[in-house]
Order: sequence, then structure tokens, then C-alpha cells
Amino acid sequence: MSEKNIALVTGASRGIGLAIAQALAAQGLDIVGTATGDAGLDAIEQALAPSGALRAALKLDVTDKASLAAFFEALEAASLAPLVLINNAGVTRDNLLLRMKDEEWETVMAANLDAVFALTRRLLRPMVKARYGRIVNVTSVVGVSGNAGQSNYAAAKAGVIGFTKSLAQEIANRGITVNAVAPGFIDTDMTRKLNDDQKSGALARIPMGRMGTAEEIAATVAFLVSDGAAYITGETIHVNGGMYMA
Ligand code: NAP
Repeated sequence: MSEKNIALVTGASRGIGLAIAQALAAQGLDIVGTATGDAGLDAIEQALAPSGALRAALKLDVTDKASLAAFFEALEAASLAPLVLINNAGVTRDNLLLRMKDEEWETVMAANLDAVFALTRRLLRPMVKARYGRIVNVTSVVGVSGNAGQSNYAAAKAGVIGFTKSLAQEIANRGITVNAVAPGFIDTDMTRKLNDDQKSGALARIPMGRMGTAEEIAATVAFLVSDGAAYITGETIHVNGGMYMA
């Protein structure tokens, strides 16, 4: 089987990442999915193994350099060189800037931005060699609109968009596309932890009047990975029910 058919999805255990892994599997790709712990690895196996699309479920904490190094070794040991990379793993640590702790800033930067750099740099070489690759970075509407209480997260997600545009220009002539998908307000564990006031405030700003689903984000990622998107690079596609029109 051609290596072209392997997609690495970070944070594939639940939410948007799991939906992306399932959509790419349905599109005929083999999947390497990551999770931070055993429960997440089990979830990936249960969801994807029955389809036969799961190449590996591997442990990865993107904020931990030792974990990243072990993950890269595991990929190499299994001779896995994915040519499709979906940088999906992400976290929030919301706070007003005056109250924000160093740890809240640093964790959000490490998970949402530094990890995109580390994973992409490591996986790019085989793509360049193959003269084929698809990289999709999951950013956020708040990386473009800003959001009170999320200066750390918005800065990291805006950084992802700048990274996406710059890398797209570096490698456009190698058959590799680099794009971002910016979800709005999506029904996952990340938003389930918000209180009712925060939820109704966000819903009031969505012309479609509802949260999005993980599957609606996954469908856009699957399109960007498909041959039909071969001429799209450096782009950020907003999927937000009209919440913000960039
Ligand atoms: P989620 O339901 O909270 O899932 C987060 C995923 O990331 C899980 O698979 C989790 O793995 C993984 N993850 C968390 N910390 C990690 C770490 N340190 N190292 C490696 N993996 C880690 O979140 P989601 O809503 O699906 O979000 C997915 C992406 O979409 C994120 O980049 C997020 O910023 C972005 N996004 C979400 C929304 C939204 O409204 N939900 C909006 C805009 C953008 P475990 O299961 O092992 O913890």
C-alpha cells in the first residue's frame, strides 16, 4: 500500500479528532491516531479497528518533549511515514489576562502552537521526498476574531494561521498543501465544560442558531485532504454557522 494513504491525526480519541479520523478512514485512508492515555487509545481502537483502517493508536502528549521523542521513535520503529498530517490536538486554559498564570499561557502555547511546529517539521521530510503531502491544522475562529478570556488560546491559534501560510509558501512546489480549518462553536468536551451563560452567549452570536458538530468540521478536513483540493494551499476555511465571516 502506498504511504500516501496513511493519515496521522493527533488527538483522535474524541471530539473533532475522532470525527476526522473516521471521515478520513471512510475516504480510504489508513489512520494513525494519538491520545494522551490508555483510555483514549482504547477509544481510538474501538472506533476505528472494526473498519480495518487503523494502522496504529499511539500515545502522545504534545506538551511533553520526551513524549514527542518517544512518539517519533514509535513511528519509525513501525516504518510509518504518514503523508497526511492533521494537527488537531488542542487545549484551552481560559482566563482574563490580569489573572492568567504562566502555566495557563505556556500549556496553551505548547499544545496548540509548539506541537504544530514539532510534528510538522518531523513529518515534512518524507512528504518532500514523496513530492506529495497534505497538512491540515485545526485552528479556531478566535484566532481571527479574538475572544475575551482567551488571549492565550487566540494567540496560539492565530500563530497556527501564520505558520500555515508561511509553510504553504515554502513547500507549494513540492506537491504538498498546507491549510487550516477554523471551527466556530462545536459540541465536544471542550465546549461542554462551559457554563450556561457562556454557552448562551456564544449561541446568540451564531446566525444559524446552533452549535456545529464534530462531523461538520471533519467533512471540511476530508475535503482539504482529497484530490479535489489539490490547488488550495495556505487557506483557512471557517466552519462556524456564520458566527464570524472572515
Ligand atoms: P476535545 O473534545 O477536548 O478533544 C481534545 C483532543 O486533543 C483529545 O483527543 C485529547 O486527547 C487531545 N489532547 C488534549 N491534550 C493533549 C495533549 N497534551 N497532547 C496530545 N493530545 C492532547 O477537543 P475538540 O473540541 O475536539 O478540539 C479539537 C481541536 O479543535 C482543538 O485544536 C481545538 O482547539 C479546536 N477547536 C475546537 C472548537 C470547539 O468548539 N470544540 C472550536 C475551535 C477549535 P485525550 O483524549 O487523550 O485527552
